[in-house]
Amino acid sequence: MPLVTTTEMFKKAYEGGYAIGAFNVNNMEIVQGITEAAGELKSPVILQVSKGARAYANHTYLVKLVEAAVKENPDIPIALHLDHGDSFELCKSCIDGGFTSVMIDMSSKPFDENVEITRQVVEYAHAHGVVVEAELGTLEGVEDEVVVEAGQASYTRPEEVEEFVTRTGCDSLAIAIGTSHGAYKFRPEQCTRNEKGILVPPPLRFDVLEDVAKRLPGFPIVLHGSSSVPQEFVKIINENGGNMPDAIGIPEEQLREAARSAVCKINIDSDIRLAMTATIRQYFAEHPEHFDPRQYLKPARQAVKDMVAHKITEVLGSNGRI
Ligand SMILES: [Zn+2]
Repeated sequence: MPLVTTTEMFKKAYEGGYAIGAFNVNNMEIVQGITEAAGELKSPVILQVSKGARAYANHTYLVKLVEAAVKENPDIPIALHLDHGDSFELCKSCIDGGFTSVMIDMSSKPFDENVEITRQVVEYAHAHGVVVEAELGTLEGVEDEVVVEAGQASYTRPEEVEEFVTRTGCDSLAIAIGTSHGAYKFRPEQCTRNEKGILVPPPLRFDVLEDVAKRLPGFPIVLHGSSSVPQEFVKIINENGGNMPDAIGIPEEQLREAARSAVCKINIDSDIRLAMTATIRQYFAEHPEHFDPRQYLKPARQAVKDMVAHKITEVLGSNGRI
């Protein structure tokens, strides 16, 4: 099947009590690793491209890589989504350039400005058969060019969501309930430590999620910044020349719980980066004589595939849902 929008995926995910994984793509190995896992597990999947990925790999290369993945995996629904579009022009360029879904992120702007720009993007997108994700509330952390300092984030205010969705006409809504971008989601002082000395983050605000879901029945909710930062990968990185002290993510049990609710899309990026980096660092340590990029990118691609397969079956529950 050709690239699809997320409309049908979200409808089924909402009704079925699972979520679709949205994984960030930057190069061929990542696209292959993600779609091979989704293909084998018969899972719908969203491939998302950030402004930074577009600057790194070039729009045309990324679209053509995704088109190749669609051709190689004809049985599964695949959507191509712009992550954190920061202007009407960027969204328009992706809509014109083959994306089936875009995010306009005006969450750092005042409410009325967020509504106005989101509404413009929705108008253009819908006229071209493309769906739009918007955001209310802000997440902490760093994602490509989106940087929100600690203390500057704010939870979504449930009392604003109905007016926002009605006025903008957006198709899905990203909310802030305590997830965060990057591999350092919380400062150590925000956390407790377990008996092994590993940081335990504050729990997600499920009360906010429930309130939003009650106000927007049947409407797809999105969680950004939802990597779990598996400590086994952080350990491999640190044991092989890396330096990532106190990297920390969102526990998978909490994301599993979210996936069963109104949350239909869960964004995962850092865990793929960690899996690739840990694999490559370990490979270099074990094979100092190798210099063919295929030698270390092959296990790195496999690590992406294994990570995505784990997320699909153990966190999202989207396997066998095509
Ligand atoms: Zn994000």
